[in-house]
Amino acid sequence: MNESAFSEQAMNAAIDQQNKCTSYPKVGAVIVKNGEIISTGFRGEVSGKHAERIAIEKLPNPDLTGTTIYTTLEPCVEIHECQPHKPCASLLMDLNVEQVVIGVLDPNGKIYCQGYDRLLKSGVKVAFFTPALRNKIESSTFKFDCSIGYGPSGKRRVAVVGNGKKFTIYASQKSPDAMSFRWDTLQYAHSVVDLIADNESIACAIGAEKFEDISDPLVFRESAHYARMRSGDIAVLYPPKASFITLIRLVEITEFDITFQWQVRNRP
Ligand SMILES: [Zn+2]
Repeated sequence: MNESAFSEQAMNAAIDQQNKCTSYPKVGAVIVKNGEIISTGFRGEVSGKHAERIAIEKLPNPDLTGTTIYTTLEPCVEIHECQPHKPCASLLMDLNVEQVVIGVLDPNGKIYCQGYDRLLKSGVKVAFFTPALRNKIESSTFKFDCSIGYGPSGKRRVAVVGNGKKFTIYASQKSPDAMSFRWDTLQYAHSVVDLIADNESIACAIGAEKFEDISDPLVFRESAHYARMRSGDIAVLYPPKASFITLIRLVEITEFDITFQWQVRNRP
């Protein structure tokens, strides 16, 4: 078997591990040496430990020299100081892993790209799963589809990705009625993002600070195809034929992600 065929087989083996998880996020890992899978792990297999650590601790000798680890989710970095275990990115570096092959980057804003960055800076080779396998992982790692929300209200953090992925809000869990928008993050460095909607259907609720400040969303008439927003701003989204109206409040913009909340209102 050639190298890339074997590599894809190892990716699939990590996904098989991921599929054994019974809670979210689902993460699987396999360790490869000399063209052979020498250990496996999945989150939940040992309580309180991450998939990478579980696979490492099954080895008779934890030295990772000359090994490649395939993990479906980006290895973690410190989130808070009193974590019981060393974060996986540090563990892998300290054990001299040669290469890390990542399924998806962690959408948690405190980790996103930082595990990746730290590994690269320490001289570890980093590669990614194939696009088709990444898609498969992205739709199964987390409990929520990161691109869908529901009324009556909710809050979500999304990764900053160029022109922004489409986000769809349904009137309720049971309703087929939905509307979509996306974030344009080209100016996030200036703490400004644009919220884009089709059909000139979005307006800034200038002056409003809380959803409760807005008694009738339809008073905001200067609708356009985008709303330029800073933290704390609220926009009103009302596509012409939609059965409902969505208020969207930008909670926070960071280098890595955008946090926003929404509230669905009946159309008067
Ligand atoms: Zn970890």
